[in-house]
Amino acid sequence: MHTIENDIYSHSLALYEQYVVQHRLRHTPERIAVLELACTHGSGFFADELCKELQSRFISKATVYNTLSLFAEAGILFCLRNQTDSKRIRYEFVAENKHHIQIICPQCGRLAEIKDQMMIDAVMAKAIPNFVSDHISLYIYGHCKKCRRPIKKKK
Ligand SMILES: [Zn+2]
Repeated sequence: MHTIENDIYSHSLALYEQYVVQHRLRHTPERIAVLELACTHGSGFFADELCKELQSRFISKATVYNTLSLFAEAGILFCLRNQTDSKRIRYEFVAENKHHIQIICPQCGRLAEIKDQMMIDAVMAKAIPNFVSDHISLYIYGHCKKCRRPIKKKK
């Protein structure tokens, strides 16, 4: 395993173990398998892709989804739901990236993350009355390159 991924894994495992104790859950080998595989994806992954990869290990879709939402509750993962396609759920490691700016093309459902520290700094610096900002999850809607083709006029 890569060094950074290893860091994510050990950090995530510690959070998971803490959560299991706090909520009096039992340890399951499936959850560990999901966590291990998730960690090989670096900063993030799509839930459906992880399901496909875990099929060969006989871990059901329901188990994967339940485990991922448990990890989100435990503060390990951050759930990025594509608002135009509820089936495409992206998860990212909280430890890796706290702020998220996503661009969405509602026409084709394409979703991408943009890394823009200046935009994050600008939003975080913005004073909101009676509110303290913690993290950003921003969606920007528009048209992707593919969907931006000029509409041909009918003759
Ligand atoms: Zn598009």
